[in-house]
Amino acid sequence: MKAAVLFESNVPMPIVELDQAEPKTGEVRVKMSAAGICASDHHVMTGDNPTPMPIVLGHEGAGVIEAVGQGVTTVKVGDRCVLSFVANCGHCRSCRTGLSNICDTNRQTGTRQYDGTFRLHTSDGIEVHQFAKLGVFAESIVVPQQACYPMPDDVPMEVGALIGCSVTTGIGGVINQPGMRAGMTVAVIGTGGVGLNALQGAKLMNAAKVIAVDIFDHKLEFAYKFGATHVVNSKEQDPVAAIQELTDGGVDFAFDTFGHKVTTEQAYRATRKGGTTVVVGLAPDGMTAEIPLVELVRNQKTLVGSYYGSSSPHETFSKLLEFYLQGRIDVGGMVTRTYRLDEINDAYDALARGEDGRGVIVFD
Ligand SMILES: [Zn+2]
Ligand SMILES: [Zn+2]
Repeated sequence: MKAAVLFESNVPMPIVELDQAEPKTGEVRVKMSAAGICASDHHVMTGDNPTPMPIVLGHEGAGVIEAVGQGVTTVKVGDRCVLSFVANCGHCRSCRTGLSNICDTNRQTGTRQYDGTFRLHTSDGIEVHQFAKLGVFAESIVVPQQACYPMPDDVPMEVGALIGCSVTTGIGGVINQPGMRAGMTVAVIGTGGVGLNALQGAKLMNAAKVIAVDIFDHKLEFAYKFGATHVVNSKEQDPVAAIQELTDGGVDFAFDTFGHKVTTEQAYRATRKGGTTVVVGLAPDGMTAEIPLVELVRNQKTLVGSYYGSSSPHETFSKLLEFYLQGRIDVGGMVTRTYRLDEINDAYDALARGEDGRGVIVFD
């Protein structure tokens, strides 16, 4: 089985032949069909969000179940599946309270499988981690059955892959926000894969104004296709002043889909009195933002994080697949380039350059 393996940050990933163990109890092997080029993997490559290495990255994917271990009941061989990068345990406190997207056991076991062991080894016997228990930049993956959500035959694999991360994170982060109602004003800072989906989420919620903010005009132009009613280039004008002017004092909901001190502070300041700032993008580990405390109290603002759609990923997948089949969201239109697995480093160079839309690796 071939996979792209990260041995060291900031060094291109070679394609390596790895030994893959058979699925254990409750696990399945998935033949990969499509894998999205997401910024979260890039943050690992650059060292901004370090993980143990060597590791197979990739957490946005779709594939077909080709083998099942003992005790697998939720999927069968031949099922086409969206992959969840939080294969939740179902028993921890977070799972019990409905927040399977932040499952405690999953977080503790991290890049190993649930029994704490590895399914991948190099030919020298070195253990290889799987990012988010997935590691979809590989021809096939052995994962917990909970990672797999079967999807209908008429959903293309690239669409299923994107639903596995950017679509769920972006749209889910908006539609699952308590207090979101029709006619509200929304700003989305950052128009990468997640940002474009947050725009679509705002459109689904019938927002009155949907303001996209980015530093690239070509990305802002693309953002109109996904629901932006107004765009602001934050290199050319102060985005906070621009949003306040467009909305008479600030938006009801501001989303930072980029994840950085600068963009979170912008989102917070662009939020109206009584409004909510939602941080969706992942900042580098250790980064902090300055929040004016008096304003937090006097203007009664809410500042909240949103991980993987704020809710059960499988629940959000089922809604998004329905929206997709009814033509109410555009997922295929986000895929601007496709690559082979051995072109993965080029795909990440394109992401780092800020090219618009989503790159997807398509497997034979
Ligand atoms: Zn992602
Ligand atoms: Zn759990």
